[in-house]
Amino acid sequence: METERGEAAALQPQECIRRKRDGRELAADEIAFLVEGITGGSLSDAQVGALAMAIFFQGLSPAECERLTTAMADSGTRLRWDLDRPVVDKHSTGGVGDKVSLVLAPLLAACGAAVPMVSGRSLGHTGGTLDKLGAIPGYDATPPVERFRAVVREAGCAIVGQSAELAPADRRLYAVRDVTATVESTGLITASILSKKLAAGIERLVLDVKAGSGAFVPDLAGARALAGSLAEVGGRAGMSVSALVTDMNQVLGRSAGNAVEVLEAVDFLAGAAADERLRELVLALSGEMLLLAGLECDLASARRRALAALASGAAAERFEKMVAALGGPARFVSEARRHLPAAPLRAAVAPSEPGYVVAVDVRAVGLAILELGGGRRVESGAIDPAVGLTEVAALGEAVGPERPLALCHARDERAAAAAAARLRRAFALGPRPVPAGPLVLERFACTRMPCSRSAPMV
Ligand code: URA
Repeated sequence: METERGEAAALQPQECIRRKRDGRELAADEIAFLVEGITGGSLSDAQVGALAMAIFFQGLSPAECERLTTAMADSGTRLRWDLDRPVVDKHSTGGVGDKVSLVLAPLLAACGAAVPMVSGRSLGHTGGTLDKLGAIPGYDATPPVERFRAVVREAGCAIVGQSAELAPADRRLYAVRDVTATVESTGLITASILSKKLAAGIERLVLDVKAGSGAFVPDLAGARALAGSLAEVGGRAGMSVSALVTDMNQVLGRSAGNAVEVLEAVDFLAGAAADERLRELVLALSGEMLLLAGLECDLASARRRALAALASGAAAERFEKMVAALGGPARFVSEARRHLPAAPLRAAVAPSEPGYVVAVDVRAVGLAILELGGGRRVESGAIDPAVGLTEVAALGEAVGPERPLALCHARDERAAAAAAARLRRAFALGPRPVPAGPLVLERFACTRMPCSRSAPMV
């Protein structure tokens, strides 16, 4: 890519966008100028969308990606932590039914780490941790930075979103990408994820890079490249990064939506029987986090520690503390059903004929939820926290008149019928069960942190 601009004239948004559109490499001052314009509002939504589309088609060189990540991280405050516990975090590249963060943050807090987690809203066809937490009445996902810090100190974890103070450039670019078909770009995903983490002062990060029909990068080679880009840019920014590439060829867990996923996460924390793949992913990611945090020296002990924190109720307690400290109800774990919004209509989506689930177009399942009102069509759109799916059939499961594909939670009959039609098309059925593939497809372990087993369970 050509780097020369040939002149030292004042920068103009349309000229920078044009250069990117034409495949040139953007220089550091151009990226800084564009990020400033995204943050401060001197770039219009149309220009932000056009820039995202130019990057989508032309990509970013490693150097550009690093510049964009740093500029976006520096668009607001950058936190520093001085705690008596290791600070560690996890971020997923996006999936359907992925409520893992809701469980992992309090679980790691209960295991002796601090987790200041900056998450995002729904993006494209995928759900967002922030919108899920938005289903909890009173929960403030964009508290002032000092409140965020205080909650991390008190509860051991806090899950919040980008704000006017934390990664504001990502907040705007993310919202524009959500509705302009510009999400699926390795460079943009890398900059989006890492800018939030750098702003939050994260130095140890575990990534859950999804591959499969519900992932932004469905093929394994693409997922590997995304993991590589995240590890490289994160490493250059001073982070220790490990990554698991995990399967997204079926909905994770049994629910997808906002309130319904909070309920599944809360039930998990409270010790109810959990979906096996969800449980395995939580344990796999918590293991990586405990290693990276230096709290455990091997995956087997990390697993034991995480299981103990779940069984004792310590993780549930941390979640409850975090929710209350961020304005949600006290005793939320035991009273979640009373507090979460419920959709007025529940309709079983029976398959057209009986059979075994042999493939799922998970992206189409995500779009069915968007159609129900669980996602946005424009940047400023409101979402309906109550709608979604529960009892979603897994790969290999037998479905028929007695066992529907899912239970649809909808606002009205029309929305339920449209979602049901989409779902029927999303599930391919066959005459025989097929085994689901492995959950963890690849592991990229980072250089270990020095291990200190003495850290107490709190
Ligand atoms: N998660 C993010 O925070 N950003 C993306 O672009 C994708 C997933």
